[in-house]
Amino acid sequence: WSPAEPPSADRVAQALHDTFGFSAFRGVQDRVVDRVLHGRSTLAVMPTGAGKSLTYQLPAVLLPGTCVVVSPLIALMHDQLRSATANGIRAATLTSADDNRAETMAALRAGELDLLYVAPERASQPYFRDLLSQARIALFAIDEAHCVSEWGHDFRPDYRLLRPLLDTFPQVPRLALTATADHHTRADILAQLGIDEDGLIVAGFDRPNIRYAIRPRDNALRQLKTLLEENPGPGIIYAPTRARVEQLAESLARATGRRVLPYHAGLAQEVRARNQTAFVASEDMVMVATVAFGMGIDKPDVRFVAHAGVPKSIEGYYQETGRAGRDGDPSVAVMFWGADDFARARMRLSEIEPHRQASERTRLDALAALVETGECRRAVLLRHFGEDPPAACGNCDNCLEPVGLIAVTDLARKLLSAVYRTGQSFGLGHLEKVLAGVSDDRVLQRGHDQLSVFGILTEDEKPLLKPLARALQARGSLVPTEHGGLALGGDARAILKGETEVTIAVPPKRDPRGRKGRGT
Ligand code: ADP
Ligand code: ZN
Repeated sequence: WSPAEPPSADRVAQALHDTFGFSAFRGVQDRVVDRVLHGRSTLAVMPTGAGKSLTYQLPAVLLPGTCVVVSPLIALMHDQLRSATANGIRAATLTSADDNRAETMAALRAGELDLLYVAPERASQPYFRDLLSQARIALFAIDEAHCVSEWGHDFRPDYRLLRPLLDTFPQVPRLALTATADHHTRADILAQLGIDEDGLIVAGFDRPNIRYAIRPRDNALRQLKTLLEENPGPGIIYAPTRARVEQLAESLARATGRRVLPYHAGLAQEVRARNQTAFVASEDMVMVATVAFGMGIDKPDVRFVAHAGVPKSIEGYYQETGRAGRDGDPSVAVMFWGADDFARARMRLSEIEPHRQASERTRLDALAALVETGECRRAVLLRHFGEDPPAACGNCDNCLEPVGLIAVTDLARKLLSAVYRTGQSFGLGHLEKVLAGVSDDRVLQRGHDQLSVFGILTEDEKPLLKPLARALQARGSLVPTEHGGLALGGDARAILKGETEVTIAVPPKRDPRGRKGRGT
């Protein structure tokens, strides 16, 4: 193929219209397509829904030869195949699930395919390399390219095997695509796939019509019920486990009278399909789901996304909340978080491979910072994705109701030293009694009334103890023990020595339901 003669702008516009039915490019699509048509390797970082598929499907149609698309999931490939074929694009998948492989290979050799979807493990097999050398290859598109990086949230060793294949065809441009990349991951993708730094194109991540709110969870059912009452449109509630999904779906249906259905990987295929179809068609349904729900679902009018527990990472949070308001109309994203979510996540850290723990811990810390911040949520979110947003957005909980920041370093030192002096094995309830000077049986039996921390809590400090403990657990200064107690962790020693300040964000005392604002 000849990079000297890319198709004219007219031809590009024509194909965009005729094949895809679009009148214009969106966002950075034109920049990405233009680079690819000029034969230049590119990493496009575009949020979910920004239209990544078009950036390789359009060149696939315009360029002579076949575009080979590497994609991590067979289900995803088949979705893509269906929509490409519906647009009249000559496409095929080459996976273990296809029984027409011989036919597909013949079509590839004969130059009759615009698009060929393959899994990364196939791309690394020698026979596949031979197959490609018998065909004309126009472009390598690497979807979900963050899978190549150990910094990414979804590392797949198979992606590392792609490089030799790409290097076998040095004249073929590479287009790496991902929705999720902090700057570490980005740099790593460029290096791993051999793409120049100037090939990086990043789309704006802001979703201005989504209103973000993040609140401590006190009574999830009551909080979600209120949310459903305030938001009559269709919505998704993400819950951490299958059991929790089913339980919430049932209780919420009962409590609100709304149509609430569950979705998780443990349900029978036909139940899942039925619930999904019902949701996509509905104007008021609520789907309670695990993160298994959402990929490849095209429903533009989702009015709210709620998290009943913390997501896995900021990337996950962005992706899941990003399913709200694709139509551009006002939508809300509300997260209800608990200290125990972070406690569990930090426990799990010790179970993963040692060399991945540092990046996972960084990921968790970033999430804790988003949850704990008194700053604009959108600003924190966008900065995470490498943007330089205004300090306030006017459309998140912290902008709409500025929180008070309280310096609680002294109180933090009292709590941490109580943890230390009682042997790092008691829960918050017991610690609170010791600090408040309550001499019940357990306190007396252990001799904790004799400790220097006994009864040192002031009246003013009492209501701050729980939010503080929550904040310390989120940031890892307090970590759970196996038996439900609390131990020192992270920067606890620095706090005790007075080397680190601790502040917590306390919401304004306001509540439509007449309860104390704090904690809702
Ligand atoms: P991503 O893979 O980035 O999540 P998709 O490629 O699935 O996004 O595209 C998301 C939606 O946007 C699809 O419904 C697609 O048809 C639509 N879309 C993509 N590009 C355009 C465009 N230029 N104009 C209008 N709609 C578009
Ligand atoms: Zn804001």
